[in-house]
Amino acid sequence: MTLAQGSAGAVLTVDLTALQNNYRYLAAQLGQARCGAAVKADAYGLGAAQVATALYSAACRDFFVAHLHEAISLRRSLPSDAALYVMHGSPVGHEAEFLQHQCIPVLNSLQQIKAWGNLACQQQRALPAIVQFDTGMARMGLDQQETQQFLSQPELRAGIQIHYLMSHLSVAERKDHELNQLQLQRMQEIRAALPGIPASFANSSGIFLGAAFQMDLVRPGAALYGVNPHQNQVNPMQAVAYLQGRIIQTREIAAGVGVGYGGSWVSSKPSRIATVGVGYADGWLRSLSNRGWVEIAGHKVAMVGNVSMDTITLDVSEIPVEHLQEGALVDLLSDRITVDQVAQQAGTIGYEILTSLGARYERQYRQAETA
Ligand SMILES: *Cc1c(COP(=O)(O)O)cnc(C)c1O
Repeated sequence: MTLAQGSAGAVLTVDLTALQNNYRYLAAQLGQARCGAAVKADAYGLGAAQVATALYSAACRDFFVAHLHEAISLRRSLPSDAALYVMHGSPVGHEAEFLQHQCIPVLNSLQQIKAWGNLACQQQRALPAIVQFDTGMARMGLDQQETQQFLSQPELRAGIQIHYLMSHLSVAERKDHELNQLQLQRMQEIRAALPGIPASFANSSGIFLGAAFQMDLVRPGAALYGVNPHQNQVNPMQAVAYLQGRIIQTREIAAGVGVGYGGSWVSSKPSRIATVGVGYADGWLRSLSNRGWVEIAGHKVAMVGNVSMDTITLDVSEIPVEHLQEGALVDLLSDRITVDQVAQQAGTIGYEILTSLGARYERQYRQAETA
């Protein structure tokens, strides 16, 4: 949906040049490994087609989504030399659609592996797949027992052209956490049992755990979109998502007046309140009620009162009125108000802030001419 300029409550600008710079920065951390990209959940809310196209121009050729339907709609935007991997694998009975749409499943269970092998047998050709192993987060992939079965029964691999052995890190952002080493060791044992097959292990943070973790293909998501891959270090990534809300109305209130639902904020003195057209239905989480700040023309402004479905309210008492005209823009995400900061104020992680970004925004994609 494209919204006419000025008709939406907010403008989401996605900086595709910053995205490409982030991709090149991550790729530069790698030795021999290829740099792929996680573009699931509409590229973390920023628009999978636009994001994947920009990453393809930056030389990315390996894309990961969660669901088959995400892959089917993204396939149209990507040239045929780009590999599109579906991390949830094939829903039972949908195997043939992977061939039809040129998508590659990540096989997570012996059942999925057998179904893929059967299809290969019917087709009388080897079919590509990734096989995922659970090395320590108890979420997806073959568990330890299934892994032993898979390694000891070569017939399970018949007809399957394994592009990568894959696993996923549980606490990669905590560099000295012992689980990282344990997962690495388990992954190395699996690799040793299946020599010659490439492996994919690291997400954004995993890239910074060193060459042993990078293996042959990395799968960053969050860092590409500007989220800090480090826990206690300066963010090396550039901001990609910029969000600007519009002032709908302003009003003067006396001291002692409650603002918004429940009157959870009460003015201590005569104040000026601005209402902005972004609310929790747009992904501006209700947990941001009475927390954090935004900016108007470079001035810091506190959010006051509860976040409503379609609006937030700001205490703009100190802001020069010329910046408070109806339709004036308010910065909600910018170079100074980062996704990570907003996440911290909301009590969540940057991933959730990005993937919650609303469908009602006017969306703009920005790209430098020379990129
Ligand atoms: C989401 C996801 C990624 C990307 O992780 P980031 O932390 O966003 O870099 C990589 N691999 C798997 C299996 C994932 O689910």
